[in-house]
Amino acid sequence: MPSPFDKTKARKFATQAVENINAMEFTATPELFTVFFSFASGAPKGLKDELDDAFFKPGGFSEDFCYQLYEKYFTGADDAAMLVQALGSILETMGTVVNQQDASAAARTGALRRIQSTLGQNPNAEQLRRAILQLNEQFSKALEENAALKDSLASANSQITELNDPVEVATRSSLTDPLTGLGNRAAFDRRIREARQLMERSSIPTTLVLLDIDHFKSVNDTYGHAIGDEVLKVLAQTLETHARDSDYVARYGGEEFAAVLLGTQLIEGRRMAERLREAIAVMDLGEKARAAGLKSVTASFGVAEIAGTGTGQSWIELTDKALYRAKANGRNRVVSNSELTETKNIEEISVMVVEDDRISAQLTEAMLRKIGVKDVCVAANGSDALDLLAQRSVDCVVCDGVMPTIDGLEFTIRVRTGFAQSATNMPIMLLTARQEETWANAARDAGANEFVNKPVSLERLEGALRAMLFEPRKFIKSRGYVGPDRRTFEDPNYSGPERRGAITSPPAPAA
Ligand code: GH3
Ligand code: MG
Ligand code: MG
Repeated sequence: MPSPFDKTKARKFATQAVENINAMEFTATPELFTVFFSFASGAPKGLKDELDDAFFKPGGFSEDFCYQLYEKYFTGADDAAMLVQALGSILETMGTVVNQQDASAAARTGALRRIQSTLGQNPNAEQLRRAILQLNEQFSKALEENAALKDSLASANSQITELNDPVEVATRSSLTDPLTGLGNRAAFDRRIREARQLMERSSIPTTLVLLDIDHFKSVNDTYGHAIGDEVLKVLAQTLETHARDSDYVARYGGEEFAAVLLGTQLIEGRRMAERLREAIAVMDLGEKARAAGLKSVTASFGVAEIAGTGTGQSWIELTDKALYRAKANGRNRVVSNSELTETKNIEEISVMVVEDDRISAQLTEAMLRKIGVKDVCVAANGSDALDLLAQRSVDCVVCDGVMPTIDGLEFTIRVRTGFAQSATNMPIMLLTARQEETWANAARDAGANEFVNKPVSLERLEGALRAMLFEPRKFIKSRGYVGPDRRTFEDPNYSGPERRGAITSPPAPAA
């Protein structure tokens, strides 16, 4: 029958098949040889996929499983012919090497000749079985004894790789991101499935981390795409350096990365994300980036633990929500799903109104009560609000922008920079009569989640409140960002419309 492969390839696949069978410590039989030959050649595709999948399942890759695949994919007629052809290729390889190098050539050549003649006579299944066993024995001996054979096989392997065997290339590239060398989205999805099985079967927890580089578009816009690519590569290396053996990091998409932390609960996973965040903020971006003036980048993180029910997709969505809350809360921070308040109803949340104008304060409070909020407290200015936060926690803050001493922006920055650990990620809405776009930008840079112009209608207030609490993703505003560094009130060169003196450091948390 005509061979579907050229000689070099068939030889290579056959060699791989024997090596793999030996590596798995399986017994070489025609059935297993056929399965492993097909695996090496990549055809039929379904078989290769099933074997690939089984490889990632604990205990999934067994002899039994390979026999099931044999039953499923090979039903007698053609595989014997394929097998004979494959065996012929191995014989040829071995023959060449034996003839050239092997001191025990005579003995081995005799054994090979006998096998060869069996193959030449239209062998039945039993004869084939014996031929394979003999061949495997010879092959193993040769491998053990003869370093030259190993070298020769190794060079055959690399030759084939250079030939760009489409099957191999396709398999490798279908799971690897070419820019960073990390696993890609498909590889990540596979790991998520695996993690889910581990959780279901053995209650082993897994925590998922998603991270997204902050203002990466402006890095590209300011320094060029090539430097952007460098940043992605350096970041991938940083992730790999910090990952433990049981962690799996992947490039999830554009400038988003993911880590699957096997055997890790939320609290530890959050700590890991925090370590990654710190490492990214100080990582060396390389000579080119430095020369161009790009010193550092930051990233925002979402963290969630894979829980009881739910699909891989639902865990990703949950982690994504936490990530977008991290963005909304000012970027360069970690938010875990347990910090999202979206499980509460509007009747259950507490809101602090910060407003120096008494009439406005009463009006806002009345509106909030009308919307259904039961727990409303009022602070007359920014410093009162910080004092109040030291005493009690609230689910969110609705804050006037323009106030004496500590204004809305400064209040927001102080909360975000760790005034009270528990309040760092608390949603904040800023209200102001000032219409300037720069003011809105400053509000977002300070880390406000919502920015609403006064006078505010009941509908607008409710919409913004619900968005801030329940739909973190939808209400992220995108705008033309000027530079890669955060333009906040911490930046001494920033001259926003409401700036009142630099903030040195956040006050020490109240004891
Ligand atoms: P945010 O902080 O909200 O995440 O802002 P951002 O600018 O990072 O987000 P946005 O989604 O607006 O932009 C992402 C940018 O990432 C846009 C795109 O050009 C860039 N990007 C995606 N993939 C690559 C890549 O492979 N190389 C480079 N250089 N840039 C990439
Ligand atoms: Mg993104
Ligand atoms: Mg981004």
